[in-house]
Amino acid sequence: MTDRRYVIDEMISAKSIAARIEDLCKEIQKEFKGTDKLVVVGLLRGSFVFIADLVRELDLPIEVDFLEASSYGDGMESSREVRILKDLRGAIEGRDVLVVEDIVDTGHTLHHVTALLKSREPGRLKSIALLDKPSRREVDLKADWTGFEIPDEFVVGYGIDFAQRNRNLPFIGKVRFV
Ligand code: 5GP
Ligand code: MG
Repeated sequence: MTDRRYVIDEMISAKSIAARIEDLCKEIQKEFKGTDKLVVVGLLRGSFVFIADLVRELDLPIEVDFLEASSYGDGMESSREVRILKDLRGAIEGRDVLVVEDIVDTGHTLHHVTALLKSREPGRLKSIALLDKPSRREVDLKADWTGFEIPDEFVVGYGIDFAQRNRNLPFIGKVRFV
């Protein structure tokens, strides 16, 4: 499949992403004002660019941790079964937690991850997704904050891959086979 030729059409510019992150961070700061216990949890690997920009814009004392859940493999279809491939390094009991996801698609990944983290009895547990594809939802859930709602297109860039490529694009683009 990856042998097929494709081009990437820009959908969301680097500038729009940066502007949106500024606004989101103002809201997140309001929510977590006064806390000295916030752990920002990035879901690997797709959120690594987003979390890097997000935490540098956040004017709060934070720690960063990562968790990896399996989802797509190398294909373009979501697997409904979610497995934890890499767990957090730190305990989150009593800590406020912000889960950072790249895309909420069917919703299975975020649903599974937040249920797991909730079972560890954190303080406040909130989530943020850069992108949301509401038309694809199979589990009734929404991240507490969303960067952009997008249509049902396969996107890449800004940390998000197609068969492990294109994560280093500075913008979000959609894949078009040619
Ligand atoms: P969900 O469990 O919500 O169906 O899937 C969420 C995960 O699927 C996201 O974290 C992301 O890794 C992957 N995903 C969803 N849509 C896309 C897409 O358009 N492109 C890529 N590369 N991954 C996607
Ligand atoms: Mg992901």
